[in-house]
Amino acid sequence: MSLKDTISSILPHSTPAAPAQEPRTCKQCGTTTAYEELRKNHMICPSCGAYYRMHAWERIADILDEGSFTELDKAMQSSDPISFPNYPQKLAQAKQASGLQEAVVCGIGKIEGVRCAVFVMDSAFMMGSMGTIVGEKITRLFEKATAQKLPVVGFLTSGGARMQEGILSLMQMAKVSGAVRKHSDNGGLYLPVLTDPTTGGITASFAMQGDIILAEPHALIGFAGQRVIEQTTGEKLPQGFQRAEFLLEHGFVDLIEERPRLRFMLANLLKLHQKPETPKMTKPFRSLMPERRR
Ligand SMILES: [Zn+2]
Repeated sequence: MSLKDTISSILPHSTPAAPAQEPRTCKQCGTTTAYEELRKNHMICPSCGAYYRMHAWERIADILDEGSFTELDKAMQSSDPISFPNYPQKLAQAKQASGLQEAVVCGIGKIEGVRCAVFVMDSAFMMGSMGTIVGEKITRLFEKATAQKLPVVGFLTSGGARMQEGILSLMQMAKVSGAVRKHSDNGGLYLPVLTDPTTGGITASFAMQGDIILAEPHALIGFAGQRVIEQTTGEKLPQGFQRAEFLLEHGFVDLIEERPRLRFMLANLLKLHQKPETPKMTKPFRSLMPERRR
């Protein structure tokens, strides 16, 4: 099966064929590369090494074991809770452009044989903004992971809360954070991978609540935009501010990993944190124990 067919086979049939499998032109160096070649190269420009933004299903194909992913809550769709002008049209455009029902894909899969709960945000859907459905889907995934004692791996990208849902979108920060905390209190592992861009309410909540926070090289990670901060503080910000490397240096990110090694790194971290199953005490062994301790 060709790579193109593999991608086609994992994409939902009911949606338009996203991602577009045409040649792409690099914004950094202007080189045009065939889609198949880019996919083989983890969506990295072969000329200059710039990272293309990844579609949620490209990421799933890149990181998870083939055929291991089962999507959860895929039918959940946003409504228009505060009757925001033109929001239904915006949603329809986003679905058309991304081939997704919402800005996050959630499910259970395996990375090098280790079962885990996975969520993948997609900036092609309204800049990966967090509305009620994004918050609800991620919360449900954490709750399932807690109940089934699974680690959570999340790929984050977002412009922040979704203004078309007003205060309801802001409340998702608290809701998801609560589910992350419960997962953690129950001994569950959470590995967020911050990709370009991870900003706004996501950074102010579940992007920064991981046990080990990973990031892709040069990813923009921050809360408010650089210009807003400069205008508010009246200060010039240092070079590279809000880039993954700057955040690593200042302790907000634990580790930066190149895309070709990311799957290997995640698999290692998952295996390292796997809890050995408590062996059940067998009958002959029980009989050796003193009576009062049985
Ligand atoms: Zn390039």
